[in-house]
Amino acid sequence: MNQHLSPLIELQKLDLRIVEIHDQRRKIPERLHSLEAPLREAQQIFQDNTASMDAVVKERRALERDVEAQDAHNDKMRARLSEIKTNKEYQAHLFELQMANKKKSEIEDKVLSCMEKIEQLQQTVQNAKEKVSIVEKTFLGEKQVLDELDRKLSLELEALESEQRERAARVERTLLDRYRKLKNARKDQALAAILSGMCSGCRLQIPPQLVAEVKRSQDLHTCPYCHRLLYWEEESKPENKTVPNSPSEGGLEVGESV
Ligand SMILES: [Zn+2]
Repeated sequence: MNQHLSPLIELQKLDLRIVEIHDQRRKIPERLHSLEAPLREAQQIFQDNTASMDAVVKERRALERDVEAQDAHNDKMRARLSEIKTNKEYQAHLFELQMANKKKSEIEDKVLSCMEKIEQLQQTVQNAKEKVSIVEKTFLGEKQVLDELDRKLSLELEALESEQRERAARVERTLLDRYRKLKNARKDQALAAILSGMCSGCRLQIPPQLVAEVKRSQDLHTCPYCHRLLYWEEESKPENKTVPNSPSEGGLEVGESV
């Protein structure tokens, strides 16, 4: 291991984990939003059903007012019967009264039909309400898990950032500047291990002579293609280490995933 690079290699491990945590935390609101989808859907159904029921209730009230108006009208007609003199007029008026009574009973039928609808809708609204509370409970459970993960990640981040400052302070200034410039330029890692003769940063084959030099000397060497600082790592070390990404694997100890 190159003596100059080993503090940077440690620093890079911290930096990579910090980036990973930022990524994980950034995804949490998006995950929450998609986990909330069934709840929003259930709430929408509940609102739609409630609105349907309110509309029928309103319709029933209007019909009841119609019944009252019709009733008053029919009472007046009945009162007028006694004032009628001729039989012909009486028969005509009686017929009109019958028609008016029929109209009233038609409106009353509509009121009954509204009441039946309301009864059915009440059940539908009740079911929708229960569904909301079930789905809400599930969502709140999932939210709690994600909130907890976010809390753990933020604590881990705090610890890592403080360690990052300490480690950076121990690295020689010009080397640290070079590391930071490279890191910003590459958007990920400034250092790359040589693995199976390849630069682990750009995956291109390193000339064997350069591999030998990196292995042997304490001088700094860069990859001829991506310009990352090269270091030698034992071949036995696994390549492509997987990085936990899902929240269920979160809450890792410092450095565990790198
Ligand atoms: Zn490279």
